[in-house]
Amino acid sequence: MIYHIEFDIAAVFVTLFMAYFIIFKKGVRKHANRVYLSMLVFNFIAEIADIFGSYANNHPEYTTVYIKDFWNYLYLSSHNVIGYIIVMYVFYLIGYEKTQRKAMTLLVIPIGTVLALLFTNPFHRQIFYYDAAEHYNHGKLFFVIYVVALAYMIFAIYMTVRHRRAITERRASALIFFLCITFVPIVIQIIFPEYLLTLFFETLGLMGILFTIESKDDTVSPTTGILNRYALQAALDRAVAGKGYVLLLVKIPNLNYYNKMIGFENMNGILRRISKWMDETYEPHICYDCGRGHFAVLCDQIARADIQVIRSKTMERFERAWGKGEFSLVFPVQFGVIHIGEDVKTVENAFMLIDRPFEGKMSSELNVDKAVHDYERGVLIERLIDKALHNRSFKVYYQPIWSTATGKVNSAEALCRLIDDEYGLISPDEFIPIAERNGSILNIGQFVFEEVCRFYSEGGLKALGIDYVEVNLSVVQCMGKHLKEMFDGILDRYSLDASCINLEITESATAENQRVLFDTIEVLKDSGFTFSLDDYGTGYSNITYMYDMPFSIIKIDKSILWKALHPETGEGARNARIYLENTVRMLKDMNYAVLVEGVETSDQKKLLEELNCDYLQGYFFSKPVPGKEFADYLRVVNK
Ligand code: C2E
Ligand code: MG
Ligand code: MG
Repeated sequence: MIYHIEFDIAAVFVTLFMAYFIIFKKGVRKHANRVYLSMLVFNFIAEIADIFGSYANNHPEYTTVYIKDFWNYLYLSSHNVIGYIIVMYVFYLIGYEKTQRKAMTLLVIPIGTVLALLFTNPFHRQIFYYDAAEHYNHGKLFFVIYVVALAYMIFAIYMTVRHRRAITERRASALIFFLCITFVPIVIQIIFPEYLLTLFFETLGLMGILFTIESKDDTVSPTTGILNRYALQAALDRAVAGKGYVLLLVKIPNLNYYNKMIGFENMNGILRRISKWMDETYEPHICYDCGRGHFAVLCDQIARADIQVIRSKTMERFERAWGKGEFSLVFPVQFGVIHIGEDVKTVENAFMLIDRPFEGKMSSELNVDKAVHDYERGVLIERLIDKALHNRSFKVYYQPIWSTATGKVNSAEALCRLIDDEYGLISPDEFIPIAERNGSILNIGQFVFEEVCRFYSEGGLKALGIDYVEVNLSVVQCMGKHLKEMFDGILDRYSLDASCINLEITESATAENQRVLFDTIEVLKDSGFTFSLDDYGTGYSNITYMYDMPFSIIKIDKSILWKALHPETGEGARNARIYLENTVRMLKDMNYAVLVEGVETSDQKKLLEELNCDYLQGYFFSKPVPGKEFADYLRVVNK
């Protein structure tokens, strides 16, 4: 039989190309990567041996038995070692290299046996031998080689399937696919035994692995060239399953601000310098660029003293400027130490800490306990919100608004309450921002609006002197498309007119999302709604936008009143009082009705009456109370 070596020759070139790619393409060298490289090396040796061995078999006239022997032994040993290395490669990918040393040693036994049989073959000739015509033949024990190779492959596939989460599902399926490709030539060679396809298909499999699993494109940050958050995710998957891992965080705040200040390209240059410094300084620990100026360093077994060294090196380096010339900047930095398994137990929680914006003092320590506690509390609140929406157990309370002109309560603010059987009262200041972030404010807003309409029509509020009810409107609701239809639909159902509702929008919302608000207000105005500007004086006041928006009432925030006249101490700063007086006067001159929140004492009430405020709201009159109680209250005060 004449062997065809063309496929082997092609495989040699592909292998060389891959080796070049791995060695010279810049990237981060990991253990798995080195193991991959050793697979290529053995593959290359096997290819060369197969080419020369087959050539020798094709041309016995030019060779001796010894030369044939040499190539055959080289081919069989190098080729068989690859099976073992594939299993090692999978072990490195799933992070077994540290924890499963014993298993790794045991796995040497099969390949050890094969090699022992091979090297003793000249004495027993049970693996291969040459017949009288000096033709190569398989011996009785040759099947051992097949069995061992097959066992390694099946074991590698099994481990990949079992630990697919650690490698990520996508990569695991790619790995299995490329491992399976190596079985193809077995079938083909049954029909065409003269075609040496095995190594060519193995090389194809290795190439597939190179471009999917070893590909750095999706694990290296294009900005900084160090590993990115996807790489960290895979490493953290292992870390949470292991022991003694510590994650160090280094955060630079406000990347957007610096991008605007010195330009995107210059800032990227600085980030590259920072990453390079970290990558080198934190060696042997691996540094990851998690985006937005947040970096993480994963340390496997690190002494407290070493953490301290890294911390002080980092803090010291950040006291000096980064970059060159006019683009040289000093950044504040925040350092955090997270003990995986103690501080956080899940990858999700670790990423929450990584992604949390830099908060607290400039150049400071991240308060891991507080951050984890806040996060867990947030998750709990989300759950309680869902539960309350599902059970329709949100409550709407009403707080009277007192008119200085009539000396009566002429309206009320509807305030949402979340009272959980197990956790008690949750403040809206806590759950509203969370509901705004996860979108459930849309359902809460609808619930509150409907409940107010129901109460207004069924509770006979009109007859009790209430002209309208103030309902808080979140800017997130304004971003929704069908707000007007939803409001109109509910009003219709209770046969109410929009004039019985006044919508409150907070000042901070107007500063951030002017355009959206403006459009929504225009649309809602058509339905007959009127509007109040809530919490005036707390946002980043830009008085000019107010002219354009049709607010009828401006609600001055309680903090302004309290600075002018504190409810408990009865004291006030002179400048705060001047500010309050002039604000009220200015707003009134602009023809707005002025409401002051947070009125708790009769002195405050007196002061505000003197300033000619139109409406007062606060505990002095009543705290927010359930609808029925509110109606009873009205029967007394509005007699
Ligand atoms: P806000 O709209 O400014 O509501 C006034 C807040 O001040 C209410 O707090 C009220 O109980 C409190 N307050 C009123 N008078 C006094 C007083 O004399 N002393 C003190 N210490 N506090 C007083 P609450 O009910 O905790 O609501 C907090 C915030 O949550 C509200 O501020 C509002 O922004 C938001 N919120 C409440 N319900 C809803 C709702 O249904 N939808 C939306 N989007 N936001 C809501
Ligand atoms: Mg309000
Ligand atoms: Mg307010």
